[in-house]
Amino acid sequence: ATDFGIHKALEILGVKDINEGTSTGSKSFSNGGIIESFSPVDGQLIGKVKTTTRADYEKVMDAATSAFKTWRTMPAPQRGEIVRQFGLKLREKKAALGKLVSYEMGKSYQEGLGEVQEMIDICDFAVGLSRQLHGLTMHSERPGHRMYEQYHPLGVVGIISAFNFPVAVWAWNTALAWVCGDVCVWKPSEKTPMCGVACQNIAAEVFAENNLPEGICCLINGDYKVGEFMTKDTRVPLISATGSTRMGKVVAQAVAARLGKSLLELGGNNAIIVTPDADIKMTVIGAVFGAVGTAGQRCTSTRRLIIHESIYDKVKKAVIDAYKQLRIGNPLDENNHVGPLIDTDAVNMYKNALEKVVEEGGNIVVEGGVLSGEGYESGCYVKPAIAEAKPEFKIVQHETFAPVLYLLKYSGDVENAIAIQNEVAQGLSSAIMTNNLREAELFLSVLGSDCGIANVNIGTSGAEIGGAFGGEKETGGGRESGSDAWKVYMRRQTNTINYTTELPLAQGIKFDL
Ligand code: NAD
Repeated sequence: ATDFGIHKALEILGVKDINEGTSTGSKSFSNGGIIESFSPVDGQLIGKVKTTTRADYEKVMDAATSAFKTWRTMPAPQRGEIVRQFGLKLREKKAALGKLVSYEMGKSYQEGLGEVQEMIDICDFAVGLSRQLHGLTMHSERPGHRMYEQYHPLGVVGIISAFNFPVAVWAWNTALAWVCGDVCVWKPSEKTPMCGVACQNIAAEVFAENNLPEGICCLINGDYKVGEFMTKDTRVPLISATGSTRMGKVVAQAVAARLGKSLLELGGNNAIIVTPDADIKMTVIGAVFGAVGTAGQRCTSTRRLIIHESIYDKVKKAVIDAYKQLRIGNPLDENNHVGPLIDTDAVNMYKNALEKVVEEGGNIVVEGGVLSGEGYESGCYVKPAIAEAKPEFKIVQHETFAPVLYLLKYSGDVENAIAIQNEVAQGLSSAIMTNNLREAELFLSVLGSDCGIANVNIGTSGAEIGGAFGGEKETGGGRESGSDAWKVYMRRQTNTINYTTELPLAQGIKFDL
């Protein structure tokens, strides 16, 4: 059997059999227990990562707080130059890092490469941004006064990330935070620690080549307890956390208890509305890629198809036919469409969802099941399933992080479909398939989708760097990567300067001495 070049990739990325999971840049150390990372692709051990103890964490915080004192004084465009070099290094290592992402997380190699491309794109975005950290000027009501606002760096940014985007989410945060003058401490998911080590190695090289202090780019490893070191730490003014809503609720409370800031990117329950005016071919492509891409393990994966009753049977048949073409297997083999779930716990959640939907009265139209035998030894490969369901089913209201698609029927006007789409607790991504201008505009209007992302004639899945990414309600309200998302990584200050010899007070208040 071929190893699809994975060993070569690990060598290029400087990932060893046993890795120090704590790092302040070029200095790595770690005194905690070991995480073993097994690939969901073939069940093989990829390597081990030593976790971070409290004492290790204190060393990281000493380095980070001290580095911030230097980094914040470097002009933003010069910080942008460092991020530019980081983007170049990512281009050099794109194939290797994409391969590791695919092998450790289980997404296809193409998607692994796509994830690294997102890292490169956010670097380019951040480089331009480094000359555009604009504030506003305002007209003061007082004569001889000037008023403006400016943005200063915040300090240490704590990044907690999920397994399904094991490298891009870190870069979305760091590339912006670095040009903003912040230093970063990252705790990757305990399910994808090797990706963390690989990214740290790449970034550390850039900081070392530029003789920058240790502590601008830090890594810590471990489970939620290591994450808690940061969420409870007043030295970390901003926590950016990506993961489940369950995690977000705990993290938000811990950070709020100390009045810190949090940026939350949590679960989704994304729907595509298919109206009588939809292009069925486009709908099928968007829905199938959205539901089975990354084996349904994207926060933006399509979970619900809300189809008008007049075209319901036609759309159902087209989607079922498309599912028959799907090839499930090793994601490093480009012939396959669907790779494995992250681990057997995820497989159990998938099985549980299929049982629940039947218990609640749903009708399975594409059977699921766990695959076994040659090529499926890891026990993580499952068949993408489709069930006809009702919007109010508990399981439909819940985010199952697996390739399970629910078909829901609506009748009457598009308003009814929009109501179903908005009836869930999550508010990340949404889409409408229609060539009817009125339906499309209503969907995007104040009466339309309540999600952070609302698309017309493309699916729910995926995003581009230029737009701000994130969602409402239980998705957490955070916005990352594009647009003015940088502002959360900075503190805003309003300044008023009096260039006269008088001291007039605002609102005409007199205070004569
Ligand atoms: P998870 O919530 O299990 O873990 C995410 C991270 O949070 C891990 O690093 C974990 O160690 C850490 N963590 C958990 N509890 C913590 C606590 N109490 N304090 C500090 N850290 C803690 O999520 P997962 O299974 O890795 O990822 C899947 C979930 O992530 C899905 O719900 C998906 O929708 C969501 N997700 C959202 C986005 C988004 O941008 N909205 C992106 C990717 C994934």
